[in-house]
Amino acid sequence: MNELNIQGVGMTSQRTRDRLIDRLQQKGITHPDVLRIMRLVPRHLFVDEAMATRSYEDSSFPIGHGQTISQPYIVARMTELLMESESLENILEVGTGSGYQAAVLGGLVKNLHTVEVIPELYRQSRDLLYKIGYKNIRTHLSDGSWGWADAAPYDAIMATAAPDAIPPALIQQLKIGGRLVIPVGAQNSEQVLQVVTRNSESKYSVENHESVAFVPLVSK
Ligand code: SAH
Repeated sequence: MNELNIQGVGMTSQRTRDRLIDRLQQKGITHPDVLRIMRLVPRHLFVDEAMATRSYEDSSFPIGHGQTISQPYIVARMTELLMESESLENILEVGTGSGYQAAVLGGLVKNLHTVEVIPELYRQSRDLLYKIGYKNIRTHLSDGSWGWADAAPYDAIMATAAPDAIPPALIQQLKIGGRLVIPVGAQNSEQVLQVVTRNSESKYSVENHESVAFVPLVSK
């Protein structure tokens, strides 16, 4: 983490960021590493400038192209669920969006691949993550419902857009024992945050967590 340039870019908002961390703890986030990294990552750089003053509220915001930056509580919760993985060497995120969730994961795992399907968002988040100083995040422009086969298998995968049903490729690209954290459900109906654990070559188990509201995982 020390190599990141986030000191300079982020220090001005440290107090508001500290208040957000208090809020996350009140809501039940306990993982010390998750709290530590979210205290550091400058979320105001990942939202539209017009929204920057509100960027440490526990809310989602529009990021253009009909997409949103996730609510910090949900980012923290999904990160906690992913951190229960046995190993955090090689991780995939589907739905880079603003890059904020990637920035949080990038401070906690060895290597992160993140896939975005909208070219403008891909370019923006790639440039921002580079500018902040991440050396362990690889951004890709691609349809993530196919995962990212080039770097598979993964210790864990996180999707931040919701499919109606889990894309088989995401399970196939998990190591045995690996975990997939994913919101599942049709738009306009209830979505649930699921953790899928791949138990063997052909078997997996599913745990249901809280209800969530994500943008759809589009499939081309
Ligand atoms: N993790 C993001 C959340 C962004 S919202 C953040 O922290 O800001 C979800 C993102 O998933 C959007 O940017 C959307 O364009 C993207 N997305 C939707 N379907 C996708 C797909 N099939 N492959 C890759 N990205 C997808």
